[in-house]
Amino acid sequence: MFDLHILGTSGSRPTGKRSVSGNYLSTPHGNLIIDCGEGFQGRLIKHELDLKKNPIGIRARASKIKVILLTHSHLDHCWGLLPLLKTMQLDGRTKPLTIIAPSTIQAIGWVENNYGDNIPSNSNINPSDFALLFKEWRTHIENNSSKNIFKINWILIPIIGHNPHNLITQPIKGIKLTAIPTNHTVVSVAWFIESTEKSDRRVLISGDTKYNVPGFKEEILNNPIDLLIHEATFTHELSEKAGEHGHSTSLEAGKVASDINAQVLGMVHFSPRIIDFKLIEQESRINHQKSFACNDGDIFRISNDGKVNLFRKSQNSWREHDMQ
Ligand SMILES: [Zn+2]
Ligand SMILES: [Zn+2]
Repeated sequence: MFDLHILGTSGSRPTGKRSVSGNYLSTPHGNLIIDCGEGFQGRLIKHELDLKKNPIGIRARASKIKVILLTHSHLDHCWGLLPLLKTMQLDGRTKPLTIIAPSTIQAIGWVENNYGDNIPSNSNINPSDFALLFKEWRTHIENNSSKNIFKINWILIPIIGHNPHNLITQPIKGIKLTAIPTNHTVVSVAWFIESTEKSDRRVLISGDTKYNVPGFKEEILNNPIDLLIHEATFTHELSEKAGEHGHSTSLEAGKVASDINAQVLGMVHFSPRIIDFKLIEQESRINHQKSFACNDGDIFRISNDGKVNLFRKSQNSWREHDMQ
């Protein structure tokens, strides 16, 4: 069984009701975070407290996190990482943690050989590449500690072209993680998470991307997907703007779900200008009937037989959402 907790559904910046990207996935083999934008740890703490007070048999404990996966280095997807690590340190964590993010061969090489120099203006190394951010964050976390830091495996994957990247070493036994390069304004990946033992479940989380990702093909993904979490920054009316900024529309998110034969589509990363979430669902449902505009706090449960249920927060508790 997989439980995916959606802890942020706003794109780029928070709104009164929605926070920026961040997801918590629990699996029988170990728990993961996929993206953790600004303020992520506060949201996770509040979410876990609400789950504890209103027992529905689902929890989201920070201490159980084994792996953090990042899709790209925009702040709304990664700026909550360092404070979260700091808290883990203060909590006296001893268990190791693996953090995995996309980068480029050039940026990884430059950090190894030239870190501290100015990045040459004619290089195509992005100053916010994870190779540089990891170096800084690592220095910060290791230098500011009077205690022994728990072991962190910082893994950068060099993205080349559009081919899915299979990890050489999988950090969780029974789970296979694959990074699928996407089309955004910086190097970026979607994370494909499959269980390979006990039950055979599959979740794909897009991160930020334009439509038409070469790796989002049924023949590449091999089997149907139980749950696709796809960004839908705009409605179709703003499709030109979506394309220019490396984002998708709700119509396109529905097309992807249909192309890859996903059972359920959960849409996230809405532009703060979106107010009509019914329209988001209407557009995606043109191509894929089981589509939902997610709210912060939504929990998708994927049972061992592949059935997907959505639990939606109302007040401080959760109710099963009618998915028909
Ligand atoms: Zn974003
Ligand atoms: Zn982005």
